[in-house]
Amino acid sequence: MTDLVKHKLDVIENADPFGRSGIDDPWHAFRNVERLDMELHFQFKHSLGKVSPFFLALEEKRLLATRCPECGKVWMPPRVHCGDDLAITDWVEVAGTGILEASSLSAYTLTTGGGKDTLILGYVTLEGTDTAMLQQIRNCQDPGKLVPGTVMTVKWATEPVDHPMQLFWFELAD
Ligand SMILES: [Zn+2]
Repeated sequence: MTDLVKHKLDVIENADPFGRSGIDDPWHAFRNVERLDMELHFQFKHSLGKVSPFFLALEEKRLLATRCPECGKVWMPPRVHCGDDLAITDWVEVAGTGILEASSLSAYTLTTGGGKDTLILGYVTLEGTDTAMLQQIRNCQDPGKLVPGTVMTVKWATEPVDHPMQLFWFELAD
């Protein structure tokens, strides 16, 4: 082995899972696998676009949905166009309580680094809105209580976060 390739880690031999060897193994010429020790890192500017007022209001512990001036439907998460008739919507502030529509307990997400924590996600229709919003559910000791129709309440972060969507989450209402 040479050191001409800086990130070369090693070469491993993958055995045939069926135990074949030599010419009996149809993949015998492809069993040596080179592995590289690589690091992926990049930084970029990510625009939150026209729905930025929603994210900015979260910093003030306010929830902004959008209402369609044509049909009156209130969209949350906000949409700049009504999904039904394409009218440009208006901002409207909504309350921090709602009804759970569905929930899911997950052992793997990219945001938790993969398998370290269990994550509960829920669709909640906030009071005064017509659509359900997907967000984290936290501090739930008994996921069995998360049945559709359960009243949920918004809680706010008090510590700095990486992304505005981490400024709030849902919990079971008292
Ligand atoms: Zn509409």
